[in-house]
Amino acid sequence: MTAQPDAATFLPFENSYARLPERFYARLAPTQVRAPRLVKLNEALAQELGFDPAYLASPEGVEILAGNRVPGGAEPIAMAYAGHQFGGFSPQLGDGRAILLGEVIDRTGNRRDVQLKGSGPTPYSRRGDGRAALGPVLREYIIGEAMYAFGIPTTRALAAVTTGEPVMREKALPGAVLTRVAASHIRVGTFQYFAARSDVEGLKALTEYVIQRHYPDLAGSENPAAALLTRVLDNQAELIARWMLVGFIHGVMNTDNMAISGETIDYGPCAFMDTFDPATVYSSIDEHGRYAYGNQPLVGRWNITRLAEALLTLIADDSETAIAIAQKIIDTYPEKFEAAYVAGFRRKLGLLEARDEDPLLVKQFMDVMAAGKADFTLTFRGLSEAAGDPAADAKVRALFDDAAAFDAWAVTWRARLALEGGDPTARLAAMKAVNPAFIPRNHLVEEALTAAVEGGDLAPFEKLLSVLARPFDDQPDVPEYALPPRPEQVVRATFCGT
Ligand code: AMP
Ligand code: MG
Repeated sequence: MTAQPDAATFLPFENSYARLPERFYARLAPTQVRAPRLVKLNEALAQELGFDPAYLASPEGVEILAGNRVPGGAEPIAMAYAGHQFGGFSPQLGDGRAILLGEVIDRTGNRRDVQLKGSGPTPYSRRGDGRAALGPVLREYIIGEAMYAFGIPTTRALAAVTTGEPVMREKALPGAVLTRVAASHIRVGTFQYFAARSDVEGLKALTEYVIQRHYPDLAGSENPAAALLTRVLDNQAELIARWMLVGFIHGVMNTDNMAISGETIDYGPCAFMDTFDPATVYSSIDEHGRYAYGNQPLVGRWNITRLAEALLTLIADDSETAIAIAQKIIDTYPEKFEAAYVAGFRRKLGLLEARDEDPLLVKQFMDVMAAGKADFTLTFRGLSEAAGDPAADAKVRALFDDAAAFDAWAVTWRARLALEGGDPTARLAAMKAVNPAFIPRNHLVEEALTAAVEGGDLAPFEKLLSVLARPFDDQPDVPEYALPPRPEQVVRATFCGT
């Protein structure tokens, strides 16, 4: 008989966050669940982390992924944080249904958090049950992997397991646990937690930790807090610009859902747009459109301003000086966002050289797309073909209610392309590499979740994941995955599922 392998051999956890002061978190193990069953394991990610996929898929591995067994070396904690939710401040949020098992150093030397989400109540649960339902778990899995395939910084799913226990929402739903991997789970709200308590020592410790972990090049800065604020701002401006480039709507850009690492985090009622309309909101709880597509850049700035407020005491002793320094940093946001946004859309339009008139060209196209109710993704994919072959215009024109407006814009665009010259084949390839053919369209996501939750059928989920793993490739065998919903398939709202 061979000895039971020691989990620590396979899952070498480190616990640097748990070395921070005790008030940063609560120590507790995940809650036991009745009958864990593996729904999906992300083998490629497991390997990236240096985990043995076969071990994770074994009964012992699944016990770990369900929270029934704490692996050797892990010191599980629920992290404390605060946050502005829809503009209102909650001084105490925290991991109400998540537990950080620990960190691992991945194959490329990066420290990554491994967290169980849906793993039972914690001291931060408030009125919540600490649980997650299968649908939202699979949704987070799909969207995170799609983001990853787009090359947009994101947390990722390592695994999804069902618990064998129901969770009560509007109705009883199958319970599930998501294993989430992140550069870290430190949020703007983590800083706000200490600031709200006037805990300057805590803020200092957190700032030092974040710089060491995420931005070690800032360690020698004259003003580390200001340097950190600048870096987080840069990363958020870039991240939100990249969301805009693929028509992504986060849906709940609360400050507790903004990661300090610059990764997209907390996929709840998020979605990708079909028909382009900047006012699009999917979240059923976002009644006033605070987190609409077109508002995301502004909200990014608003959230960074909250981070700045939290850091003020570290930026300078004198509050007037601190505010002046912070304000100067915040004022760089519009310019940084705009630069990333225009550069991204320039590539999507097949342009390589920057010219003064580019922002206007982009803006005009957005207006034409909105007025024409064009499908965002198909339009840009279609432009890729049309750039080298005006005969391909017909396919793009057909996406617009008002083709004449598109034609008029296309004249300017073609003139601009002509100024650059360049090799049409190279341009086509470059455009296709930034204009995905496939996005996680809401109706496809809903179909996949419904099949999994109501029919126990994972085939549509698996199929969707495999298509989304190569979003920039033409996949002629699955044309239906590239199409917008038929009228009866349109999904109008996505729900939190909390
Ligand atoms: P979210 O909107 O998912 O970002 O969550 C906001 C806050 O509510 C966080 O503190 C979560 O931990 C907490 N929360 C969300 N769902 C639950 C739940 N089912 N049980 C306990 N806490 C929850
Ligand atoms: Mg959250």
